Amino acid sequence: MSDLLSTALVTGGSRGIGKCIAQTLGARGYQIFLSYVSKPAEADAVVQSIMDAGGKALAFKLDIGDSEAVSAFFRDEIKDKVRLDLLVNNAGITKDGLLIRMKDEDFDAVVNINLKGAFCCMREAAKIMSKQRCGRIVNISSVVGQMGNAGQANYCAAKAGLIGMTKSAAKELAGRGITVNAVAPGFIETDMTLALGEDIRQQYLSHIPLKRFGSAEDVAEAVAFLASDKAGYITGQVLSVNGGMYC
Ligand code: NAP
Repeated sequence: MSDLLSTALVTGGSRGIGKCIAQTLGARGYQIFLSYVSKPAEADAVVQSIMDAGGKALAFKLDIGDSEAVSAFFRDEIKDKVRLDLLVNNAGITKDGLLIRMKDEDFDAVVNINLKGAFCCMREAAKIMSKQRCGRIVNISSVVGQMGNAGQANYCAAKAGLIGMTKSAAKELAGRGITVNAVAPGFIETDMTLALGEDIRQQYLSHIPLKRFGSAEDVAEAVAFLASDKAGYITGQVLSVNGGMYC
């Protein structure tokens, strides 16, 4: 182990689930690097909250849909500067629509950010973690990547792809002491789900055996477990955090 500071990179750490993951990991002693793309004030507020709680954190503007920017970020901010113990591929977007009306650009944008963006971050992290001979990667998939969802062909394809990529990377990287797992949240209360109408929210609720929506904390605790020493023998798995929606 090097003397460099133990660091967790959380993509999309400015809001919602990523914010909570960053705060939870910050409280557990990691230096947090969080990325955002459009909301610097929110990102700064998360950094401040982690520092107020006695932790260390920095925010970086990084569009994970831009492969060259991702490579430059890992080269300039991470390589030889910190010990990258954990990557959480959390950043994601939706552009919902029925299949027959879905535009190419909406399909491409969702796959580019949710799947290729995670791939680019994972590739760069794997190079650094391989040299360290240790590291953890947690990819935030979704219940709909496991079971499908009308109106989300692009998002479901990306989130299902993320599960396949997780399992492949787990096999490739195990020999280097790196574990790769996915967390598949169900319906979690964040900006992403706030936009849905009350009738759709009630429809979802009727399919959740535990009869409540999930919280960002529910997801963050699952990520923290997979990042912990206690999860050292778990790799290539999908941990569902969905209230029993899909078991
Ligand atoms: P959210 O509240 O909409 O936040 C999305 C985050 O991703 C923000 O921090 C945003 O940054 C960042 N982001 C968006 N596009 C980006 C890009 N091109 N490059 C870098 N960062 C980008 O979403 P959420 O609900 O917390 O979801 C977080 C993850 O969980 C996503 O992968 C989502 O698919 C997954 N998930 C969510 C639910 C749910 O019910 N909410 C369920 C299953 C899975 P800015 O603040 O700068 O815009």
